[in-house]
Amino acid sequence: PAADCNFGPRVRYVRVNSLKIEVDKALEMLRETLLVEVDDLVPGLLTLPADIDLHTHSLVLNGSLILQGKASCLPALALAPEADWVVLDACAAPGNKTVQLAALMQGRGQVLACELNEKRIKRLYETVDVAGASNVKVMHQDFLKLDVNDPVLSQVKAILLDPSCSGSGTVYRRLDHLLPSSANSSKEPGGVDAQRIQKLANFQKTALRFALSFPVVERVVYSTCSVHQQENEDVVSAVLDFAHDNGFRLGHPIPQWQQRGLPVFEGATNLLRVKPSEEMDGFFIALFERNSSVTVSSD
Ligand code: SAM
Repeated sequence: PAADCNFGPRVRYVRVNSLKIEVDKALEMLRETLLVEVDDLVPGLLTLPADIDLHTHSLVLNGSLILQGKASCLPALALAPEADWVVLDACAAPGNKTVQLAALMQGRGQVLACELNEKRIKRLYETVDVAGASNVKVMHQDFLKLDVNDPVLSQVKAILLDPSCSGSGTVYRRLDHLLPSSANSSKEPGGVDAQRIQKLANFQKTALRFALSFPVVERVVYSTCSVHQQENEDVVSAVLDFAHDNGFRLGHPIPQWQQRGLPVFEGATNLLRVKPSEEMDGFFIALFERNSSVTVSSD
């Protein structure tokens, strides 16, 4: 059918940055000229017709509105940090989730935003600055080399780990999946580079284990915008024994969300998957939780 060929987003999402403007005020201003709906899951998320380009809209330029897809809003929602916590965004640039965390914490507590890449850190500074997120401290560092016994880092209560991934959940909306697969023998049909996925998965497992080793962390969210089981359920499964030994169990984030993890191990239905579609990028979320009374030795 013709509709199948007309592949592309049907709606555009924008998140109201509550550090800068109230949702009702933003809605009132937008509705003067645009058809705007309120998303029923993510607080402050609005939908607009897909053909509206908001990049140069004054509310975007002044940081009142953040151009952020719905799926990308879910990891911070799943982490649900308390307002006065010290929170670590481990792989932070360009920083959309960083400033969402800052807003969820009502500008209080502290969000430590760690980023390794020299160029991307500039984007992170810009995002934090324009969003007015004064409770964010940017750290230009390798997350894996952080000292978990540092006086501030040893107080981290929640970690958002959104590491580098294949991005395969976003290609659907970029039409790449319709391109013929490469002749490169390391690639499967559809253009999946098995070696690259394996390398990414190794990093993801190392980073997730490290996140779970912070001494008083109570909540860790692991997220990717990948659809590959190797970067998602398999990463969680590989660290599960380590997580249990450190007092963590898998939480069931955003319970009203129907799509859950592939049932490849017991408890995988706690995981959250977003199937890529015309409206949302493919995403994966795992939440590890432990009781505040349980602490772990960090050596
Ligand atoms: N959470 C971000 C957001 O919502 O805007 C997107 C993060 S992106 C998927 C992953 C980021 O991790 C990249 O900017 C990459 O440079 C960074 N990164 C990769 N390895 C890292 C490391 N060892 N330490 C810190 N950051 C790292």
